Amino acid sequence: MKKIIIASNNNHKIKEIKEILSQFPFEVLSLEEANINIEVEETGSTFMDNAEIKASEIYKIADGNMVLADDSGLVVESLNGAPGVFSARFAGVHGDTKANNEKLLYLLEGAKQEQRKAKFICAMVLIISEDEIIKVQGEVEGIITDEFRGEDGFGYDPLFFVAKYNKTFAQMSNEEKNGISHRGSALGKLKMELQKLV
Ligand code: IMP
Repeated sequence: MKKIIIASNNNHKIKEIKEILSQFPFEVLSLEEANINIEVEETGSTFMDNAEIKASEIYKIADGNMVLADDSGLVVESLNGAPGVFSARFAGVHGDTKANNEKLLYLLEGAKQEQRKAKFICAMVLIISEDEIIKVQGEVEGIITDEFRGEDGFGYDPLFFVAKYNKTFAQMSNEEKNGISHRGSALGKLKMELQKLV
């Protein structure tokens, strides 16, 4: 069975990507499962730059297997696009979700609905071989709530409200979130390409 290595150490992302790709006959492996233990620095200024950096660094040591990199984050227009590529370390410490969310709430304190508009963006790069590289981007729009809502999900999920569902991402089931999320949408665009490889 062909293997796809996911160039991420974020278990939440890996779980979502594995769920969405479960319909394909590929073995989808995390870096840990592929015994790859390197930290790739995200030095790009866009999500796509960072996804490309991660994919190409991991591909060099992926034994010819396919590599899928995801770089994603939250963009709030009224905050000049922040947290953006700094989503994971918005409050300073990489992966401090509580502090990141609290900083976002603080910056939007008292803000009207219009200023609370946000979107999640997910850039994905799939390296099939050295000369076959596919790049896609998915987005989903929402509103930043003024309090935490919901227990599930990760990152900014408890603050990201989708009006059509009347729920935050953290209040949705995995299927609901994957069906509309930036990651689901990016993977949806990749599916036709993946189908050709089956
Ligand atoms: P990355 O690992 O550099 O791509 O960092 C992505 C960061 O963006 C995560 O640590 C989260 O803070 C945020 N993020 C990306 N996707 C999601 C999502 O689906 N839900 C909530 N937060 C997300």
